Amino acid sequence: MATKSSSFDVIIIGGGATGLWSALDLALRGAKVLVLERNFIGSGTSGKFHGLLHSGARYVVTDPKSARECIEENTILSRIIPHTIEDTSGYFVSITKEDEEYKEKFIDGLKKSGIPYEEVPVGEALKEEPKLSREVKTVIEVPDKVIFGLDTLVTIEVAAYNYGALFLENNEVIEIREANDVLEIKTYDKISGETHTFKSSVVINAAGPWAHKVAKAAGIKVDMMPTAGTMVMLARRLTRRVINRMRVPSDGDILVPYDNVSIMGTTAFVVEDPDNVSIPESDIEFLIDEGATMVPELKKLPIITSYISIRPLVKFEESGKHDMKAERLATRDFQIHIHERPKNFISVVGGKFTTARLMGEKIGDVVAEILGINKSSKTRETRLTEYKLDELSKNINIDKDILNRVLSIIYNGMDYGRSKILNYVLVQYYIQKNIRNLIWN
Ligand SMILES: Cc1cc2nc3c(=O)[nH]c(=O)nc-3n(C[C@H](O)[C@H](O)[C@H](O)COP(=O)(O)OP(=O)(O)OC[C@H]3O[C@@H](n4cnc5c(N)ncnc54)[C@H](O)[C@@H]3O)c2cc1C
Repeated sequence: MATKSSSFDVIIIGGGATGLWSALDLALRGAKVLVLERNFIGSGTSGKFHGLLHSGARYVVTDPKSARECIEENTILSRIIPHTIEDTSGYFVSITKEDEEYKEKFIDGLKKSGIPYEEVPVGEALKEEPKLSREVKTVIEVPDKVIFGLDTLVTIEVAAYNYGALFLENNEVIEIREANDVLEIKTYDKISGETHTFKSSVVINAAGPWAHKVAKAAGIKVDMMPTAGTMVMLARRLTRRVINRMRVPSDGDILVPYDNVSIMGTTAFVVEDPDNVSIPESDIEFLIDEGATMVPELKKLPIITSYISIRPLVKFEESGKHDMKAERLATRDFQIHIHERPKNFISVVGGKFTTARLMGEKIGDVVAEILGINKSSKTRETRLTEYKLDELSKNINIDKDILNRVLSIIYNGMDYGRSKILNYVLVQYYIQKNIRNLIWN
């Protein structure tokens, strides 16, 4: 279990998928790790994405490296966190003549990237997915799956915590500087209104779409391309599988059956400031129209909510003529920048929820080398178990009556699924209480 201290081997800024996998990777190698998060775990893009565990098929033509990473990670995550994944499978469907013209390139890309696929006769596909449009011309099945965001994040958080990593929420990093061979990080604590100073040998900037802002707090520049995207959540699940449009990656291509709802997405536009973004009105109508091209019944469903979040994309350098917009051409791969000054300050940009474990592994390799830790990454073979609130709850310092009611609903009733959010909140509340004590008492 963790020690009482404000000095660490590694401080990770950002409690999204990238920060959490990095924390687990390094905790498993024996490093003393603190994650600093300005809001709460999953409050950034990782708690507001599309829910697709990519097979990589979407990227085979335009971004083959990312496609290969996706299929490998899809296989690894299905093995190590099966309880947060639904193996839905996915259909790529062509609707127009232009989509049909993409088919040959698409299949060639699937073969080259090693992604298993099968062409499904249209009649058979319509029996499997009766809500698909009758206009569908070709159907290719690939191993796309659904990954549940908060389930995954809390699973990684609890595992890393059990290996000694600490997570401090509501602490915004406002300054990073070199001081006598270590790095000093200053945070503003939103709960107490105080500022805190932490010391660390290495600091990882895993602030996702805010990574350029965190770099600024260290006095340096990181180039990236924060790219917003809108998603619309509809009141029912329409399909068993993920439905993708078979064409060059474009807006309004993907319908994800997320538990008992459907999420239609997405759009892509570069934003200056990730803290100042709102949903363009036209996005909603556009997404519904595009979605209905693949699954017409989508138009009849009530919208539960729509939300927007931001991709932390690597900056795309214009290189001449092309007929896709930069937001779609930019790689979904990631980059790790080891800065010269401040020394031992590292930024990560790019990537996907699907590839965040791999990002954590690569960050772990870089940090292990700096710290002289002679242990390799273990995350690809560490099976993460479902966290149990009833086991953690013995130490939760809240009214026992409230706690017992919650536990009773979660574990003894028919509303297990619906009470999951309460479960996350309590687990994180418990971890936060403990961590504040561990760091400062
Ligand atoms: C519209 C959309 C749909 C997507 N769909 C998919 C999908 O279906 N499948 C997939 O694999 N990927 C998808 N992605 C990509 C994926 O969601 C992201 O790449 C991934 O979640 C980014 O994780 P992250 O940890 O790098 O960033 P984040 O999750 O944003 O985490 C960064 C964290 O840093 C914190 N932070 C920022 N500044 C500070 C500071 N100064 N101090 C402390 N903390 C700070 C933030 O609060 C945040 O919690 C999608 C992205 C978008 C935008």
